[in-house]
Amino acid sequence: MTQALAAQIPASQPRQYRQLIGGEWVDAEGGATFEDLNPYNEEVFAHIPASTGADALCTIEAADKAFPAWAAMGARARQALFLKAADILERRADEVVLIMAQETGTATPFARFQIQWACGLLRQAAGYPYLPGGEIVQSDTPGVFAMAVRRPLGVVAGISPWNGALALGFRTIVAPLACGNTVVLKPSEEAPVSAGLLMGEIMTEAGFPPGVVNVVTHAPGAVGPIADPLFESRKVRAYNFTGSSATGSMLAARAGKHLKRIALELGGYNPMIVLKNADLDYSVDTAIFAAFFHQGQICMNTRKILVERPLYDDFLARFAARARDIKAGDPSNPQNKIGPLINDAALAKFKLAIEQAVAKGARIAAGGNTEGRCAEPTVLVDVPESAPIHCEEVFGPVVIVEPFDTEQEAMDKANGTDYGLSASIMTSDVWKGITLGGQIQAGMVNVNGPTMGGEPQIPFGGVKDSGWARFGRWAIDTFSDLNLITVSNDKRKYPL
Ligand code: NAD
Repeated sequence: MTQALAAQIPASQPRQYRQLIGGEWVDAEGGATFEDLNPYNEEVFAHIPASTGADALCTIEAADKAFPAWAAMGARARQALFLKAADILERRADEVVLIMAQETGTATPFARFQIQWACGLLRQAAGYPYLPGGEIVQSDTPGVFAMAVRRPLGVVAGISPWNGALALGFRTIVAPLACGNTVVLKPSEEAPVSAGLLMGEIMTEAGFPPGVVNVVTHAPGAVGPIADPLFESRKVRAYNFTGSSATGSMLAARAGKHLKRIALELGGYNPMIVLKNADLDYSVDTAIFAAFFHQGQICMNTRKILVERPLYDDFLARFAARARDIKAGDPSNPQNKIGPLINDAALAKFKLAIEQAVAKGARIAAGGNTEGRCAEPTVLVDVPESAPIHCEEVFGPVVIVEPFDTEQEAMDKANGTDYGLSASIMTSDVWKGITLGGQIQAGMVNVNGPTMGGEPQIPFGGVKDSGWARFGRWAIDTFSDLNLITVSNDKRKYPL
């Protein structure tokens, strides 16, 4: 069965997938598969190749073989492929919404957002081959003409997470490809289709040559044998990683050992500051969206809301009431705005964080309960600093609300975490927002907007434990080399 036929199996039956190596859809060496489960009802969504190190080595070989021709391909031809991929994704949108619901518990609004975002990413990347490939550098030596020239690296390995699976699966490969690299994509075991095999299908249908995009999948708990060749092979020049800070730290050390570069997009603990002159209704609306969209499983979700004391009681009352109105349910039903947590471990982490906080004196102002894998949007107040959730990412629908009295106190609280991804400030005084925003240790600050958002062209990325990569056109610096070429027009005179 070809991959295209596999994807046409009725949604009620488990789909059968193969992985993509050198333009061929193949089983894992040895033929093993694993069950990819629907997080809402635990039915089998798909059977996925459970690969080994041998499969990973094949993807590296295929990507390496395809590299010279891909790097040499003309700009117009490459541009056409990215534009076609966007059209294919748009055409498959309804099917992709269902896949994301069934595989990752993504409700329709976030699924549609990701499709539109990924189409934008592909269309913007279509222009990269036409961007200046370098610059002329003035030489101090008469008759010498010096050029700084951008060149692709070679094979880039992409490691993608399960949350925001479609957008981040594409983000993991698009900038490296647009810079002329070939890629091996290793999606999360929780979303091998939405964060990996779908990218392979769409890029193949768009006409990307065999071996330019390769996808290797593995069973839960079996990433080690895949990661080993990806990190040990001299043929892999760089990594594009999105995931938790703990994994990112470990992989950065691994890449560093082999002196290879790695782009890191990691976790966040994102504060929202509501000043006393903010529009209360709009601040509540913004906070509800920012805290609970995708049931709190987005790196940019607001984790702590700091409200200036005069507004605190009103804000909390309205915010908690709105939170109580949001119901999680089956994400395959487009009426449901939020769905389940991804797995039992995520549900257990959510419950434990709340229990620990309550045991230390916190109060639940809304939510706190779970049903199946679905968790109620939860609002915690009076959370002591000793509770882990006070500064650690829980990755579920739970947010802390705290009052503050001075701007300095708000800044100290906003910066009182190891993370530094995103922040927001709500105020009617925009200059105040910009001034305070400059003091927050975060890669992205939004005045009068949510911590969450992001368009493909922005310099997306964090500071501190949230990583160091930047996307948008800034990703070109990461996924290309800048080489010097000089030409001596005159015979030069040497001291020896
Ligand atoms: P994770 O770190 O558990 O996994 C991410 C990826 O790393 C997966 O593909 C996983 O298989 C792989 N991985 C895990 N151990 C590995 C190893 N030893 N060797 C090689 N690969 C390994 O993260 P997750 O649970 O998939 O994603 C959620 C986390 O990602 C959250 O912390 C979230 O904030 C963060 N995130 C950050 C961004 C961002 O852009 N900053 C975006 C989305 C998610």
